[in-house]
Amino acid sequence: MKSYRKVLTFHTKKRREFINITPLIEECLRESGIKEGLLLCNPMHITSSVFINDDESGLHRDFEIFLEKLAPEKPYEQYYHNGYEDNADAHLKRTIMGREVVVAITDGKLDFGTWEQIFYGEFDGKRSKRVLVKIIGE
Ligand code: ZN
Repeated sequence: MKSYRKVLTFHTKKRREFINITPLIEECLRESGIKEGLLLCNPMHITSSVFINDDESGLHRDFEIFLEKLAPEKPYEQYYHNGYEDNADAHLKRTIMGREVVVAITDGKLDFGTWEQIFYGEFDGKRSKRVLVKIIGE
């Protein structure tokens, strides 16, 4: 069995951002040489997500509105966590959007449904964040 590990780094300009990382993940898969197996991708931080959904700008605005309704950024004082930090909303948003994705690798490709794309979801940006890509198989 082969094993591949890579850490990608993201530094968003805004506090919240969704980035389609599918091309970067496909590059990792090519680099790994693995044809059959499983790919795991997760942020190495607790205020960002990796998730699978549609690459459609309207939907991404809907996610922003939906997440702000459930866990609004402000006022900061509404959260117990916000003493030293101001990112309680980011922890909550990340929990809603999930930590990681696992994708089947078949015939050297991500075995996706028609509209599936992998996104990095940043909820407390403007600093460097790491994303782990682990692939196992043969
Ligand atoms: Zn925090």
